[in-house]
Order: sequence, then C-alpha cells, then structure tokens
Amino acid sequence: MSTLVTGGAGFLGSHLCERLVKQGEEVICLDNFFTGRRRNVANLLDYKNFEMMRHDVVDPFKVEVDRIYNLACPASPIHYQYNPIKTVKTSVMGAINCLGLAKRVGARILQASTSEIYGDPEVHPQPESYRGNVNPIGLRSCYDEGKRCAETLFFDYHRENKVDIRVIRIFNTYGPNMRPDDGRVVSNFIVQALKGEDLTLYGDGSQTRSFCYVDDLINGMVGVMEQEDSVGPVNLGNPIEFTIKQLAEAVLDKVHTESSLTEEPLPSDDPTQRKPDISLAQKLLSWNPVVELSTGLDRTIPYFREIIKE
Ligand code: NAD
Ligand code: UDP
Repeated sequence: MSTLVTGGAGFLGSHLCERLVKQGEEVICLDNFFTGRRRNVANLLDYKNFEMMRHDVVDPFKVEVDRIYNLACPASPIHYQYNPIKTVKTSVMGAINCLGLAKRVGARILQASTSEIYGDPEVHPQPESYRGNVNPIGLRSCYDEGKRCAETLFFDYHRENKVDIRVIRIFNTYGPNMRPDDGRVVSNFIVQALKGEDLTLYGDGSQTRSFCYVDDLINGMVGVMEQEDSVGPVNLGNPIEFTIKQLAEAVLDKVHTESSLTEEPLPSDDPTQRKPDISLAQKLLSWNPVVELSTGLDRTIPYFREIIKE
C-alpha cells in the first residue's frame, strides 16, 4: 500500500505518517512547512518507506499512490487568518488537485474536514445531518467556507467521476507535535502555565469545546479510510464537553506554576458551544475515544516542557 499524506509534517499529519510508516506502508509526506515542521517527522527520515516532498498543494503534483489523506491546511485560527486568501486557495485548490490526482491514479482519498463547518451551532450536540450556522463574511470564513467548499468538491467528484472518497469532520484534537506558538487553546494554556504566565481566557471562558487526544483521532481517521460502508461525512471527536475555564483549571492542576487566569476579548464568531454526536462513527467502526482529558494532558505536558527549552 502506498499513501500520500498532504500536510504530513503538521500536528495530525505527523502522527498519521508515523502510524502508516510503522505499519509498513510506503508513505509520501507532502508539506510546504507553513505550520508544519521537519522536527515532527525527523524520526521517520531514516525509514526506507518514508519520503518527504516539499510542495504546495495549491500547485498541481503527480504521484502514484493507493491512498491520499488530504490534511494540508493551517488549522489554528491565528495561522489560517494570517493569510485568509491563501487559506481558501489551500482548501479549495488543494482539494481540486488532490481529487484530480485520485481520479487519475484510482486512489481512495480522505478529506480532513472540520467541526467548523457547523459554524456557531444552534443544534447541540452536532450530528452529521446538521447543516450549520456559518458566517460567510467573517474572520473565520476563509477556513469554514474553504472547508465547506472542499466537502462539496469531494461529493461532486464522487457523484460525477466515481472517485472513492471518505470525509471526516474532526473536532478539537490536541497532543504532542503541536507547535508551542500554534495558538489553539490546549497548547496556549500548557505553554503559558509552563512559563509561569497567566492563562488567557478569551471572554469569560464559558464557551465549550470537546477535546480529543490525538491517538484516538488517528485510530478513527484510519478506520474511516479503510471501512467500506460509508463515504461520510463522519464526525470524529471526543463527546465529553468542557468549558474553556474548566480546561484552564485542569491545566493549572497539572502544572506547578505561579500562573492564574486572565480574561481577553472574545474573538468574533467564536462558537459558543461544540460537542460531536459520534453515533455514526460508533456504528461504522465500533470507535470510541478512550483517552480522558486528564490522561491526554499528562501525555502532552512533558512534550511541551521539552520543546519550550529548544
Ligand atoms: P497543522 O497546522 O499542524 O497542520 C497542517 C499542515 O498542513 C502543516 O504541516 C502545514 O505546513 C501544511 N500546509 C498548510 N498549507 C499547505 C499548503 N498550501 N500546501 C502544503 N502543505 C500545507 O494542523 P493540524 O491540527 O495537524 O490539522 C491537520 C488537518 O486537520 C487540517 O486540514 C485541519 O483543518 C484538520 N483539522 C484539525 C483539527 C484539530 O483539532 N487538530 C480539527 C479539525 C480539522
Ligand atoms: N481560547 C482561549 N484562550 C486561548 C486560545 C483559545 O480562551 O489562549 C478559546 C477560543 O476563544 C475558543 C476555544 O478556546 O473559544 C477554542 O479555541 P481554539 O483556537 O483552540 O479552537 P476553535 O475555536 O477553532 O475551536
């Protein structure tokens, strides 16, 4: 089996590449290193079945593979809003290039879509049938609408060209290999606590998210790719919901620090609540996240402790 992972040097991509390389698959990791880092895949460079390709998914490319995981796209609000037009190009032109390749070489292709396609949801928890509440002209739209358009392209290539697609909608996932300056909440809070800085609650911290540990997510992602019963979309995430303030308190409990909490303005269009309905994934894959937040934090904090010394 040969597999292309776009965005393979990023947080999730590097865990996926490691999983596939260690399973003995031929893995090509394509990345432009916008938010990804060589460090994330440094442990794979000595494997004969791993290849690194520096390339931008916006520009066409050709490789012969059986599977394509399309993960290329900055995922943190600060990084995807840095150059919003490029974010749309990455989502949309990247999807077109990957789907064109899948069509030519007959590869099965999985899209890493997102809970952001539900926007600020009015239905809670969110099932795959919910069509979402997205602002098409706000600061988050480059990402939300880019990912929605990518899903559209996946289903049109499937209907029109019989491309063998899988679509997953990933809910907030965390773990080692996130950048210390990633900007998402789990990495921000851990890095702030380790540096003795106050943890920045945007708003009063009453908004909710459900946090999935990376190993659980990768199990679900590979599971969806390899099952034959549904093209998706399939929600993947941990359904246990926390307020952001509860997350901050959980981090402070784990890191011995002088830090306390400080409030900063809530960014516009920040979803007030989010929690996946994972009944489809449970039915299709018998999949359930097994790593609780406390255990996931225990596995993630030592990684950040090391990396902030570098
Ligand atoms: P990440 O920012 O760590 O990884 C993204 C990777 O894509 C990076 O290596 C980056 O350099 C690469 N990339 C960005 N633009 C590119 C381009 N134009 N060409 C080639 N490579 C490019 O983020 P992540 O958390 O690992 O997310 C991976 C994927 O999963 C993304 O598509 C994201 O939208 C999706 N996702 C992640 C989460 C999560 O909680 N981690 C949630 C929902 C969806
Ligand atoms: N957040 C926060 N402090 C931070 C970073 C994020 O309070 O330092 C909040 C943010 O406003 C949002 C939640 O945490 O309500 C999750 O933010 P993140 O950027 O991790 O992901 P997303 O908003 O895309 O779910």
